[in-house]
Amino acid sequence: MKVLKFGGTSVGSPERMKKLLDIIDPAERQIVVLSAVSGTTNNLVEIAQAYLSGDKKKAATLIAILKDKYQVFIKELFAKPEYLEQGKEVIDYHFNLLTGLANDLFTSIEEKVILAQGELLSTTLYYVYLKEIGVPSVLLPALDFMKIDEDNEPIVDYLTHHIKPLLDKHSNNNLFITQGYICRNSFGEIDNLRRGGSDYTASLIGAGIRSEEVQIWTDIDGMHNNDPRIVKGTKPVARLSFDEAAELAYFGAKILHPQSVFPAQKYKIPVRLLNTMDPKAEGTLITNTSEKDQIKSIAAKDGITAIKIQSSRMLLAHGFLRRVFEVFERYKTSIDMITTSEVAVSLTIDDTTYLTEIVEELNRLGSVEIDQNQTIICVVGDFGAEKHGYAARVLEAVKHIPIRMISYGGSDHNMSLLVQTTDKVEILRSLHSRLF
Ligand code: ASP
Ligand code: MG
Repeated sequence: MKVLKFGGTSVGSPERMKKLLDIIDPAERQIVVLSAVSGTTNNLVEIAQAYLSGDKKKAATLIAILKDKYQVFIKELFAKPEYLEQGKEVIDYHFNLLTGLANDLFTSIEEKVILAQGELLSTTLYYVYLKEIGVPSVLLPALDFMKIDEDNEPIVDYLTHHIKPLLDKHSNNNLFITQGYICRNSFGEIDNLRRGGSDYTASLIGAGIRSEEVQIWTDIDGMHNNDPRIVKGTKPVARLSFDEAAELAYFGAKILHPQSVFPAQKYKIPVRLLNTMDPKAEGTLITNTSEKDQIKSIAAKDGITAIKIQSSRMLLAHGFLRRVFEVFERYKTSIDMITTSEVAVSLTIDDTTYLTEIVEELNRLGSVEIDQNQTIICVVGDFGAEKHGYAARVLEAVKHIPIRMISYGGSDHNMSLLVQTTDKVEILRSLHSRLF
C-alpha cells in the first residue's frame, strides 16, 4: 500500500484539487495525506494570534475573510446543489467552531484547535468532492491514530495499532484520505507536528503501515542540487540516501520537512519527491543506498548565530566541552555546527531565544564572542571511503570568500561552511559552477 502526500499548493484551488485524480489511481489501495489549502494555516495562525492578544474583533474579521474564501472555493468545487449544500455544512461547522472560541478562555490548547481546522477542511471537502463524482473513499481521522508523547515525539507503534483496524474495517475500499500535520498529544489534546508537518505525517504513516513507498507531491520536480531561487540551472537530484536527504532538508532545502526522513529511514520505506505540475518528471528517490563518490547538492540555512568561547582553561583540560554543552542543554537550544581548537570552541545555533542567558553562563567558562547574520552552507554527497579531493574542491571554489567555520568529517555525507549571510548568493553560485 502506498502513501501519497499532497501539499498546500496541490490542493490550493478547486481546479488543482480536481486534478489530483490525474495522479491518484482510485483502483489502487492507498492512503492520501492532504495539507491545508495553501495560505490557510497562515491565516489560522493570524486568527489565533488575534485571539491570544484579546482582539476578538480582529479575530472575527479574519475568520469572516477566510470563510468567504472557502465559500468561493466550494462553489467551484461542487457541481451539484446537493453536494454544494454538504460543502456549506462542512464550512459552517468549522467556522462556527472558530467563531465559538471567542466565548472561551483562550490558551495554547485553543490555539492548536484553530491550527487544526485547515487540514480538517481540506480533507473533508475533498472527501465530499470524491463522493459527488462517484469515487468511493474513506475519510480517516488522523486524530484517531497520530499521537505524540511528552517529548513531542510521534509514536509509530500507537499509529500502527490504531490505523490497522480502520483499514481492515474498510477492506473493500481502496482510497483513504487523511489529514497531514495534526495529531493528539500526551494529554489527548489536539496538537500538531509543527509547520510543514504533513510530510512528517506521510512518512510516519508509511512507517506505521510498512508502506511500499511514500510519495511527497509538491510543486517542484524533486530536490534540486542547489537553491533554484538563487542559482540558475539547478537540476533535480535523481537519487539520495536518507542521510543525505536529512542533511539537505535540515540545512535549508525547503521541499521536505527535516524530521520526515527518519521514520521512513528506520523502516526502510522509499520516499519519492514528485511534482504535481509535471507528474511524469522523475523527481527524487530517497532510499537506504547512496550513489558513491558524488557531490549531490548544496543547501543554505540563514539566521545562524556563531558563538566562540575562548579559554586557556581548555588547554589539556577534560570536561570543558561538557560544561559548554550543558549550558545549551539547560536552555534546550540545539547546536548545529561545531569546531574546536585547543584553546577555543566555536559553535552555531539558530534559536536565539535564550542567547542572553546562554552568553551569561558561558562567560563563566571563558571569553565569549558572538557573530550574528551567519549562513551555513552545506555541501552534501557521498564522499566515499577514501575521502580525497572533496574538501579541496569545495575550498577551491570558495577561496575568494571569508569563511568563519568549516566542518568536515562529522559524517561521510556533509561538509559545512559558515559564512556571512551577505556572501551567501556568491558562495552558492561559485560552488555550483565549480562542483557541477
Ligand atoms: N498546513 C501545515 C502548514 O502550512 C502543514 C503542512 O502544510 O505541511 O504548515
Ligand atoms: Mg511542505
